[in-house]
Amino acid sequence: MDTYRGVTVFGETSEGKLSSITTDLLGGGRTLADRLREELSCLLFGHEVSGVAEEAIAYGADTVYVVEDAQLKDYQTDTYTPAAAELVQEIQPRILLFGQNDIGRDLAPRLAFRLGTGLSTDCIELDIDTETTLLQQTRPVCGGNALATVVCQTLPQMATVRRKAMSSLERDDTRKGKVVTFSVTIDPDKVRTRIINRVTEEAPGIRLEDAAVIVSGGRGIGSREGFQRLEELAKLLKGAVGATRLPCESGWVPTAVQIGLTGKVVTPELYFAIAISGASQHLAGCLSAKTIVAINRDPDANIFNVAHFGAVGDWQQILPSFIEKVREFKDK
Ligand SMILES: Cc1cc2nc3c(=O)[nH]c(=O)nc-3n(C[C@H](O)[C@H](O)[C@H](O)COP(=O)(O)OP(=O)(O)OC[C@H]3O[C@@H](n4cnc5c(N)ncnc54)[C@H](O)[C@@H]3O)c2cc1C
Repeated sequence: MDTYRGVTVFGETSEGKLSSITTDLLGGGRTLADRLREELSCLLFGHEVSGVAEEAIAYGADTVYVVEDAQLKDYQTDTYTPAAAELVQEIQPRILLFGQNDIGRDLAPRLAFRLGTGLSTDCIELDIDTETTLLQQTRPVCGGNALATVVCQTLPQMATVRRKAMSSLERDDTRKGKVVTFSVTIDPDKVRTRIINRVTEEAPGIRLEDAAVIVSGGRGIGSREGFQRLEELAKLLKGAVGATRLPCESGWVPTAVQIGLTGKVVTPELYFAIAISGASQHLAGCLSAKTIVAINRDPDANIFNVAHFGAVGDWQQILPSFIEKVREFKDK
């Protein structure tokens, strides 16, 4: 156990730059590493990614481990899992962090199994127990109704971290760090899948994950046309539209905008929950919003237990006047 040292972030890139989830993890990882008085490192896998290594240093990494391999150009379970396992076994970090996104959710559990360690998924807070130096990993449980703090006794201690749970440091290009290249062996016969085409989903407007304002609707919106009213408010506030499960399943909105346990987890500044009852499975995706505003005709709806502001009534009557007020306010 003594050989395990430092905090390591699994790095992701997008369009030749570090992804925001990685810069955030580096910010949070830096705090943990400083508390342990150990190093912060970042793993970068891919094809032609070494240019991004300096960026990881500018965002707080002391060392960046770069694995360049044409087989790692796109994320694939069968190539990334053995490659990451080989590198992690070599560098033996005490703490290993991933984003709670498609890659983190796929790779981290497989890697934890290979490394014979535990994993806490969807963490919203990480801290170091000063006595034991073990990582305290806090995550929502029971559909978001409670928080559990988990401590893993085996090393490395692995966690996937929810978007925006950590904040990136200011980029500092004067920071100094080391870049270490590493090569891995990937057996092409063990790669069972092949990417034959890539289709980007056309989602006009702001991405839900990046939106500071989200206007979400539930079953009570009643139709596709109803959601157009929500879009009107979202546009005015430069936000995005979200939904509970039923509007997505009914085809009123694309499934990509479902928020909740089986949908997206969002952390906007302002979240409108319109005609949404507040089921725990939905709240699991939006409870970290800074301010929640609810409109519901049922005064006993659970959403009012978590909302910071609420209006009881028919959304079809409340929303138009609210939109009008926002317009007036913006025109001033
Ligand atoms: C395993 C599992 C996973 C799930 N994952 C998700 C998930 O990821 N996301 C998710 O959202 N759900 C999920 N669900 C479904 C979840 O349990 C709830 O059924 C769902 O969130 C309820 O959606 P709702 O609030 O739109 O509908 P309802 O619970 O039916 O509530 C509709 C609300 O609208 C109000 N209303 C109706 N008409 C009006 C009006 N004119 N004006 C004002 N208010 C009005 C009603 O008072 C009511 O409170 C999951 C369920 C399971 C079992």
